[in-house]
Amino acid sequence: MFVDSHCHVDFHSYADERPAVLDRARAAGVEMFLEICGGDLERDSLTVGMELVEGNSDVFGAVGVHPHDAKAYNEALEERIIAIAGHPKIVAWGEIGLDYYYDNSPRDVQQRVFIRQMELAREHNLPLILHIRDADDDMVALLREHWTGVARPGIFHCFSGSRPLMEAGIELGFHISFSGNVTFKKAQDLRDIAKDVPLDRLLIETDCPFLSPEPFRGKRNEPARVVEVARCLSGLRDLPMEEIGRITTANFKRLFELA
Ligand SMILES: [Zn+2]
Ligand SMILES: [Zn+2]
Repeated sequence: MFVDSHCHVDFHSYADERPAVLDRARAAGVEMFLEICGGDLERDSLTVGMELVEGNSDVFGAVGVHPHDAKAYNEALEERIIAIAGHPKIVAWGEIGLDYYYDNSPRDVQQRVFIRQMELAREHNLPLILHIRDADDDMVALLREHWTGVARPGIFHCFSGSRPLMEAGIELGFHISFSGNVTFKKAQDLRDIAKDVPLDRLLIETDCPFLSPEPFRGKRNEPARVVEVARCLSGLRDLPMEEIGRITTANFKRLFELA
């Protein structure tokens, strides 16, 4: 069995197909999903994400404001996400973080909103789902300043950073999650890093609808394809694919205190 530890099934590109998309994943052996509510504020993914969480026993949720949307962060939005964070099936705060590749929000605003959401996550006793793109040094510095002494730190999601970033994450107690990009032909550096993540910190995800793994690269991604990420890691770690599924599922359940 497998877990998709990061998906955006709320996205517009799934339209009315969402039940079929989840069913295809279940048929492929996906036992649990973590739906990221709030990944795209313009399309009201908070509402659609929570519908998925409330309507499916195997879909859990994370809530937070993505660094792309940091410029839209205000008191009303904060009140809304705080209200959602109290839901019993919301198990994480995210995705939040820093994205200096797209710079869709000014960097100082991204940092301020990230720090504020770390405070809120601490108050709610929720682990973080971190989005980190071309911001390795600032991310590690902010975590060292604001996110120590936490029992369940969270996840570096869709890992695409450097080896020092992976090592800092492990030292800070985070799990490292790989998506379809680890399967890409040019991603040998990333595969070399994935080989060395301690097995008890390893997770898999799709980040769908983005980052469809090989051999589906370029097509709309969906949670069933988390199996392809497991297949890639299975080759790298010299373990059966089922064992990668078992280990990453156990890690997910331990991190989020799910039975
Ligand atoms: Zn992300
Ligand atoms: Zn995401």
